[in-house]
Amino acid sequence: MKQAVNTFPTWYEATTERGSPRAALRGPVKADVCVIGGGLAGLTTALELSRRKKKVVLLEAKQLAWGASGRNGGFVSNGFAEGIENVQKRVGLEAARALYSLSRHGSEYVRREIEVGDPAIKMGEAWIVALRHRDTGSLKSYRDMMARDYGEDFQFLSTEQTREKLNSVRYFESISNPRALHFHPLKYALMLARAAEKAGASLHENSRAQVVQKQGTEWRVRCADGEVTAQHVVHCVSSLDRTIHKASGRAVLPVATYIAVTEPLTQDGVRTSAAVADTRRAGNYYRLIDEGRLLWGGRITTRVSEPARLAEEMKVDMLATFPQLGNPRIDYSWAGLMGYALHKMPLIGRDTEGQWFATAFGGHGMNTTATAGQLLARAIADGDDEYRRFAPFAPLWAGGQLGRAGVQASYWWMQLRDRIDEARAR
Ligand SMILES: Cc1cc2nc3c(=O)[nH]c(=O)nc-3n(C[C@H](O)[C@H](O)[C@H](O)COP(=O)(O)OP(=O)(O)OC[C@H]3O[C@@H](n4cnc5c(N)ncnc54)[C@H](O)[C@@H]3O)c2cc1C
Repeated sequence: MKQAVNTFPTWYEATTERGSPRAALRGPVKADVCVIGGGLAGLTTALELSRRKKKVVLLEAKQLAWGASGRNGGFVSNGFAEGIENVQKRVGLEAARALYSLSRHGSEYVRREIEVGDPAIKMGEAWIVALRHRDTGSLKSYRDMMARDYGEDFQFLSTEQTREKLNSVRYFESISNPRALHFHPLKYALMLARAAEKAGASLHENSRAQVVQKQGTEWRVRCADGEVTAQHVVHCVSSLDRTIHKASGRAVLPVATYIAVTEPLTQDGVRTSAAVADTRRAGNYYRLIDEGRLLWGGRITTRVSEPARLAEEMKVDMLATFPQLGNPRIDYSWAGLMGYALHKMPLIGRDTEGQWFATAFGGHGMNTTATAGQLLARAIADGDDEYRRFAPFAPLWAGGQLGRAGVQASYWWMQLRDRIDEARAR
C-alpha cells in the first residue's frame, strides 16, 4: 500500500521529546511579522526577528519541523544544492564568492546555536565524499579550486585511505571536508523554536495559513479559526504548499528522497564517525548514529507517495555497497519532500507586492535555511539588503506537472550515466 510522504515515524521522532503541542491560532492577533511555515527556514527567521525585538507570529500547518527540516540526513556543510562551479558560471567569481560566504555564515550559525544552546545535538564532525570510479584527477583539481577560490580546506584521500574508513570495493578516492558536521535536525529545530518563544515569538501548530490578503499597508493571514494582521509576511513553506504564495510556489518542484535506519550494528563496513556521501549524480548519503545504527539515505523521485517496500529497497542499496552488513533489520524508514527551483538555488527575496519568501533549499537546507533566516530578519528589522545577492536566482515557473516529469526523467538519465561510469571504471 502506498502512503503520502511524511507519514512514517522517523528515528528522529523516536528519540525526541516534543513536549505539549503549541496551541492553534484562535481569533484575531496583531504582529509586526507573520511567518508562514515552521521548518528551519521559518523558525530561524522567527528567532532572528524576535532577537531584533520584532513581534512575530509563526503559523505551522501541522507540527513544527514536520517537513524536511525534522526528517533529513542531518549533514551541515557550506554551499548550495547547485554546485558552486555552476553558480560561478552564471554570476561570475566575485558574486559566487559572496554567495558562498553567505552559505558559510549559515553553517557557522548552526554550529554556534548548537554550542550555546545544546552541544549534544551535534552528532559528529567531517564529511567524506567518495568516488565510485577511479579518479582521473578531478578530485584534486576540485580541492585546489575550492581552496583557491572559496577558502575551503578539503583533504584528498587515496583509494587506500578511503577504504580504511569505508570498507567497500565500490569506493576509490575521496575528499574529506573537516569543517562539516552532522547533527540531530529535529532536536535542533525544536531548540530554535524554544529560543524564539523565549525571545517573544508566538508559535502556533495545526494552523494552516489559508489566505493572505493585503489590507492597506498591512497583510491579513487567515487560518481556520484565527487571523493575523501584520506589517510583513514571510513565506517559508517549501514545496508543501505551492498556492499560498504563487510567485514562489510556481517556481518550486517537490522532490522526494528516502532514509532508512538499521537496528544497532556491530559491523566493519563504515569505520568512520564522519558523514559520508558518494559523488554519483543520484547517490547515497549515510552516517553512523547512536547505538551503532546506520542511517542510510538515497534515491530521488518526484513521486510524492512512499514506495510500499521502502525499507527493503533501501537495504538493497546499502548491501550493494557493504555486503558484509549481512541482513540488518531496518527499524525505521521514511520519505521527505524537498523543494527545488530549476536552477537548484534557494529562492530568497521579496515580490513586487512586498511579500517575503525563503524557499527551495533543495537537498542543502541545513546551512542555507540559516542563511535565509538571518538575511530576511536583517532586511525586515534593519533595512539591510544583502538578501539581494540571491536576485540572479529569481523564482521562475518550474513547469508544473510537465516540470515534474522532466525532473524524474533527468533523474533516471543521471542514474543510467552513473552506472555507465562505474562499469567503465571496473
Ligand atoms: C530525506 C531528506 C534528507 C535531507 N538531507 C539533508 C542533509 O543531510 N543536509 C541538508 O543540508 N539538507 C538536507 N535535506 C534538505 C533539507 O531538509 C531542506 O532543504 C530544509 O529542511 C527545508 O526547510 P524549509 O523550512 O524550507 O522546509 P520544510 O522543513 O519542509 O518546512 C516547511 C513547513 O511549512 C509548513 N507549511 C506548509 N504549508 C503551510 C501553510 N499553508 N501554512 C502553515 N504552514 C505550512 C509545513 O507543514 C512544514 O512544516 C534533506 C531533505 C530530506 C527530505
